[in-house]
Amino acid sequence: MTSTPKPSAKTPDTKIYERRESGVRSYSRSMPRQFNKAQGVWMHGNDGSRYLDFLSGCSSLNYGHNHPALKQALMDYIAADGVTHALDLYTDAKAEFLATLEDVILKPRGLDYRAMFTGPTGTNAVEAAIKLARKVTGRETVIAFTNGFHGMTLGALACTGNAGKRGGAGVPLSHVSHEPYDGYYGPDVDTADLLEQRLEDPSSGLDAPAAFLVETVQGEGGLNAASPEWLRKIAALAKKHGALMIVDDIQAGCGRTGGFFSFEDMGFKPDIVTLAKSLSGMGLPFALTLFRPELDVWSPGEHNGTFRGNNHAFVTATAALKEFWADPKFAEDVARRGRILEERLDKMAKRHGLSTRGRGMMRGINVETGEIADKITGTCFDEGLIIETSGAHGEIVKVLAPLVIDDETFNAGLDILEEAIAETIAPVDASDTTGAKADSKLGLAA
Ligand SMILES: *Cc1c(COP(=O)(O)O)cnc(C)c1O
Repeated sequence: MTSTPKPSAKTPDTKIYERRESGVRSYSRSMPRQFNKAQGVWMHGNDGSRYLDFLSGCSSLNYGHNHPALKQALMDYIAADGVTHALDLYTDAKAEFLATLEDVILKPRGLDYRAMFTGPTGTNAVEAAIKLARKVTGRETVIAFTNGFHGMTLGALACTGNAGKRGGAGVPLSHVSHEPYDGYYGPDVDTADLLEQRLEDPSSGLDAPAAFLVETVQGEGGLNAASPEWLRKIAALAKKHGALMIVDDIQAGCGRTGGFFSFEDMGFKPDIVTLAKSLSGMGLPFALTLFRPELDVWSPGEHNGTFRGNNHAFVTATAALKEFWADPKFAEDVARRGRILEERLDKMAKRHGLSTRGRGMMRGINVETGEIADKITGTCFDEGLIIETSGAHGEIVKVLAPLVIDDETFNAGLDILEEAIAETIAPVDASDTTGAKADSKLGLAA
């Protein structure tokens, strides 16, 4: 790691935002810097400050900022006047993306999916998925899970658990039953069995569902990771009850948990999969709903949208698939880095009597209250580390480091987190005085 100045504490002039940008803005409140450059794992403030990015656009930047291979592909495409916008017309960029998806992702995994290009954000992919499930099955109810997060438009929002987010709807959010996720009642209660019991009981009041909509690791809802056994049970339940299993892989997919899909090697194949966030590889808006060919009952234009298939994103997504996924080494390296993360978080948790959550490079530490978590992330930010929280009360400090980060920089960022926790929470062992010291080596300054 090269030497870097500690970020200056200078708060930018925020008057234009206060005057003209809606109060709905959020991340900028806890990270009051004005950024003007980003490369790899770093974001640069216009005041010369530099931040290590452990948020990665909520996992939209799994390959880091402006990856050279992706950037070059996009620059070449633009320089050659490649089509930018074409509704859903055939383009070279789309053909190449579909062929690469087929060759690099689907075929080697034995998956036969059709790709539906939806509007460009994740919630569009979820809307398409649940709409399709309802159309295919002729049923209304979607079973979603506690702490699930699926997006902000009304259909996806109805499937989202968080009351604060749901409250913005302004209308009743209906036709969804929220069932307990894996582990909701603790390790001794199998919530898939409970769900099965109710689905089999004609008097349970639970209508036959169109779909089960599930995240394998709950990105916004606290990094709860479902076990493969539980997910297999849900897949089997869906099959048995004539419903479709939708895996929302918008945050957990694209390598965040190791494989390209978060459910790889778990012994089931979802009927429908949603992807967005890191799909374009470069932070460009791009979402996709994948489903079994037999489910493709759409008539032309029945589910529409002006920006379906962003050609620039086709180009960078294709480049990302070729750059990272054509060789299994990438997934192995992510898995290895995930184990580093696991080890380090476990150590912090043990020292302070806390617990960890998550899987792969999608993990966090439960610091018990949102207030404590905010204090820790605030300290991290002051020391040059961008990191956010997750969970019902924002009580999980969540590490979403770029998957391509080198070990040294990764550990340096984790050192900051470790020290920020040590400054905030007392160790279990009172004689352990190595934390919270005045001459703390916090910060990325060399
Ligand atoms: C972020 C996210 C969404 C919504 O994606 P947007 O691009 O914000 O609309 C849906 N599902 C999951 C699991 C997500 O993490």
